[in-house]
Amino acid sequence: MTRERITIPARSAVAVDLEPEQRIRIVNTEGGQVVDTWVFRRDDPREYLSMEHSRGATNRIWFEPGDRLVSNRFTPIVTFEADTSPGRHDTLYAACSPGSYRFYGYAEDHPSCEQNLRSVLHQRGVELDVVPAPWNLFERAAIAEGGVLIDAPSLARPGDYVELRAKLAVVVVCSACPSTVGGISGEAPRGAGIELL
Ligand SMILES: [Zn+2]
Repeated sequence: MTRERITIPARSAVAVDLEPEQRIRIVNTEGGQVVDTWVFRRDDPREYLSMEHSRGATNRIWFEPGDRLVSNRFTPIVTFEADTSPGRHDTLYAACSPGSYRFYGYAEDHPSCEQNLRSVLHQRGVELDVVPAPWNLFERAAIAEGGVLIDAPSLARPGDYVELRAKLAVVVVCSACPSTVGGISGEAPRGAGIELL
């Protein structure tokens, strides 16, 4: 069966609508690429997939297939259905942003996941006061002794995917992270893909 694949060009984001119980695959088309992912309730974007609430709901810092992930109001918003990648999708880092690039000594106008998110939501008439922490799919961050956070290049292989199932009517935003800080996506940012099931 051939399935339509929506391309997420390198350094940019795509937004898609999901109905309740609809599934999405976020595909690491070229391998090694971090994809910052957000899920917002479509009828009220002030409710969204929350990393801190989902860590509490699952008692994990790295979610696993079978986990029920929740919103900032502790409502189940997506379930984590499947993962063909080596996993450990980071839940701790904020999205890269004009401020983060300035902080790390890059140009402030560097493309960023935060600006990508704001721009695709702006096209839908949604303006965010606060940018939630993304789910950093395919980002490999580890916790070392003493609580030290370590970034390492993504181990995702070409074609690896994460599959989610919406529990509400939502908009999912995926940003192919433009960052080269910490080498999280290897030497050069690449694109990714989305399949709706
Ligand atoms: Zn980013």
